[in-house]
Amino acid sequence: MSKTKKPGKHATRLSHAGRDPARFHGFVNTPIYRGSTVLYPTLDTLLADDQEYSYGRLGTPTVRALQDALAELEGGHATLLTPSGLSAIATAIQSFVSSGDHILVSDSVYRPTRRFCDTVLKRLGVTTTYYDPVIGGGIAELLTERTQLVFTESPGSQTFEVQDIPAIAEAAHAAGAEVIMDNTWATPLFFRPFDHGVDVVVHAATKYIVGHADAMLGVITTAESAAGPVAKTHDILGLCPGPEDVYLGLRGLRTMQVRLQRHQESALALADWLAQRPEVERVIHPARPDHPGHALWKRDFLGSSGLFAIALKPVSHKALAAMVDGLDLFGMGYSWGGYESLILPFDPTAYRTATTWQVEGPALRLHVGLEDIEDLKADLDAGFARLASA
Ligand SMILES: *Cc1c(COP(=O)(O)O)cnc(C)c1O
Repeated sequence: MSKTKKPGKHATRLSHAGRDPARFHGFVNTPIYRGSTVLYPTLDTLLADDQEYSYGRLGTPTVRALQDALAELEGGHATLLTPSGLSAIATAIQSFVSSGDHILVSDSVYRPTRRFCDTVLKRLGVTTTYYDPVIGGGIAELLTERTQLVFTESPGSQTFEVQDIPAIAEAAHAAGAEVIMDNTWATPLFFRPFDHGVDVVVHAATKYIVGHADAMLGVITTAESAAGPVAKTHDILGLCPGPEDVYLGLRGLRTMQVRLQRHQESALALADWLAQRPEVERVIHPARPDHPGHALWKRDFLGSSGLFAIALKPVSHKALAAMVDGLDLFGMGYSWGGYESLILPFDPTAYRTATTWQVEGPALRLHVGLEDIEDLKADLDAGFARLASA
């Protein structure tokens, strides 16, 4: 795969990848196929399993269209879909571990990834060591003979640490371990994991790929060397997303570049505005020069998305509630990546084990949607006024 510096070429692929209108009477979009049974015309084709589609769970033209588009876009060997981002993560990890094995997981991963490791994997006899997300090449010291994989997510969930993926990949490969990366924040447009040594990429397509908060979907894309084990595990676990959700993934993908461009611009503008506010202790956004991971972000990423965090100066619970409860445009709720702005308080202190979160006031994660930026500022401005007078 050639190294690509700009998302431009990938943006063009967004419009064309995974489409074959001639197969569908010229209709531009691949239709939604529903189905379990696929008929075989003869005994011989059945016994030889010699046709493109064999059973609904194993793929339909709608599923293959999105898989092909995402494999091409990410520059991977093969892509498989799952019913959620979390199931993509669990499947990718399970593809490489057996009882007695060990894995390394970034302390800043999406919390349910951690829950999977601490419950199901633990029960199966696989041990997890959480590492400081900014460990870089220092990960070499944590790799043991039993370490099968290093799980990365950059920037980290909620706290946005930027990982040195090439350094981690080099150390992992030297020790014979695979590298899995959760690339949900950047999407294939803003980070190219296979150019940086990653073996398996997972996405919560629920976020920017679907892009409209109306479907759940997961993606696993593999380098050629990792494709076999993942395909086998995915098949055995029986994972197949619903046809409507797959279609919504295809539909969202076509406009992802323009949406992300806007998310990026608005998030940066809002982050700059928030950095000037007296109520804000710190803005946590990797594309800002004051972020500790900014140099790495600049070296490896091609852009930034609409999700970042702020830490407020200490305030009472009542004042914080007055601020967020009265917001008009920023909704409060889980997930992100849709067209609408969201705000969510978070506190990772309770569950991080390798690092400590040192912030005195409350922290808020913002997803900046596609609304007018001045309207978003006015909404937060009114929120800060409520905070001050509560
Ligand atoms: C949301 C999210 C997931 C999980 O995706 P679901 O589709 O909600 O299961 C995984 N990783 C990251 C970084 C996420 O933000």
